[in-house]
Amino acid sequence: MSCLGSCYCGQVTVKISGDINSIIHCHCSKCRKASGTAYATNGVVKVDEFEITSGVEHIGKFGKVVGKYRYFCKICASPIYSSNVDDAAHIRIRLGILDGEVNERPMAHTFVDSKASWEDLDAGLPRYERYEPGR
Ligand SMILES: [Zn+2]
Ligand SMILES: [Zn+2]
Repeated sequence: MSCLGSCYCGQVTVKISGDINSIIHCHCSKCRKASGTAYATNGVVKVDEFEITSGVEHIGKFGKVVGKYRYFCKICASPIYSSNVDDAAHIRIRLGILDGEVNERPMAHTFVDSKASWEDLDAGLPRYERYEPGR
């Protein structure tokens, strides 16, 4: 199967032509800060099966540690993927940018030792199709 993705502004588009493996909700402080959310949902994709189909010139790269980089859209700041030189055959896609159906499902919450104190993994929260009532 293949899956298409795009950043918030739409300038960067990607295509994944293979499976997305080992999908996790990562609660580590780096993922929290880089996403501004409780956790980042990341999945492993083979480099050979990952293509930036447009907007490569808009992609910025940030690395705090040598060899580990996070790639994002310089226009809208959407996180796109990350890479690690220690595993150069794979990238980690940020699943929130995917527009199509994803067959695979998250397998775990990771780095919960570092999770935000206010995050309790959605236990017991009501679910609404859109905004919460009263907004
Ligand atoms: Zn963008
Ligand atoms: Zn993380």
